[in-house]
Amino acid sequence: MNLFLYPPPHPPAKVPETLNSSSNSDVYKKMLNYKFRLYPTKEQELLLEQTLDGCRWVYNYFLSLPSPMSEYDMNYALTELKEQHPWLRKYYHSKMLQMVAKQVAAARKVAKGRKLSYRKDSDFNSFTYNQSGFRLENNNRLSLSKIGRIRIVLHRQPVNVKQVTISRTKTGNKWYAIVACDVLRRSFSTIIRYAKPVGIDVGIAKFCHHSDNHVEDNPQFLTKMLRPLRRAHRRVSRRQIGSNNRKKAKRMLARLYERINNKRKDFLHKKSAYYASRYDLIFLERLRVMNMTKNHRLARKILDASWSAFKNMLQYKANRVVEVEPSYTSINCSRCGHPVPKSLAVRIHVCTKCGAILDRDYNSAINILKRGLESLVLLLLPVERREVTPVEIVLQQRSLKQEEAHVLRRG
Ligand SMILES: [Zn+2]
Repeated sequence: MNLFLYPPPHPPAKVPETLNSSSNSDVYKKMLNYKFRLYPTKEQELLLEQTLDGCRWVYNYFLSLPSPMSEYDMNYALTELKEQHPWLRKYYHSKMLQMVAKQVAAARKVAKGRKLSYRKDSDFNSFTYNQSGFRLENNNRLSLSKIGRIRIVLHRQPVNVKQVTISRTKTGNKWYAIVACDVLRRSFSTIIRYAKPVGIDVGIAKFCHHSDNHVEDNPQFLTKMLRPLRRAHRRVSRRQIGSNNRKKAKRMLARLYERINNKRKDFLHKKSAYYASRYDLIFLERLRVMNMTKNHRLARKILDASWSAFKNMLQYKANRVVEVEPSYTSINCSRCGHPVPKSLAVRIHVCTKCGAILDRDYNSAINILKRGLESLVLLLLPVERREVTPVEIVLQQRSLKQEEAHVLRRG
């Protein structure tokens, strides 16, 4: 066990370096999406725009029908539609139009009976080739049926490609190909490696504090850009509706958001890759973000911290990610287990029993690590060897993280 903690925590139950619950590791199929930048020529860009328009036309056509059709019926209706409008057959790959039917069906499912609204040009930004109509060529070209060969930057070699989605950014000036590949992956579920575990406490003031006493500041990309954003929003609302100037202002606004998103994504990717490559086993608190974002003033800050995105990235990059119940992680002493209740403004944990003094979030991170290890050990050890009695886990109505956010908001 590789624990470089100070102060030394209460020793977790002894565990072997690896645990085999079954000897053969499984291989399973998984769909992975890769995103590649496209560089279409002016003429190709025009064709791409026209393709979006055509798909949107079909999409809105299905919405305009008096009664909603099933996906199957829509596909049937497509053949008739193509008889009436030969340009559909001429300029659009048939599988692509079928994917529009799928898109309509999916949107209906999400809407759950609510009426869908027609899509405008600005909010219809992608179309899909499924199984056929595309080919990746050696010299960095993506060949698309009815459109042509577009320059693509392949930063990795996709194999077994099943589907290609072409998407336009909201700013309207960048194009991407999202390539779905069917790959074989080795499942990690059978072997648990314990050699390098870490507990991560995520927060608002700090992005996270982990059990090796490392702090990651919250870069707050959105918060930093609030002033330019406000200005850009104001500019849009002052322009006359429908004017070219308004369109231009809107594009500027979209570019600001795009830049913020890119920065945030880059940050999260780097951090998650860092943890995934350094640790075998990652423990996180289970956070109820959806609950927390109901408070709107807070929502921005929480979403800005992008905890869920971070967790998602960790889950597909890391060996194993385990979520633990967050209750009492910031109250209990990580060294002796003694509960030290403290107000949220108190940032230092001072144990009245053993005298441990450490950062409040560091204390939580160690507790998360311990609780995670204990839960895994309990699962795998025979009952008579279980040294730790299971902690009674009480689900609090309002988690401490929510309290912390509350205090920060007032402070
Ligand atoms: Zn203590």
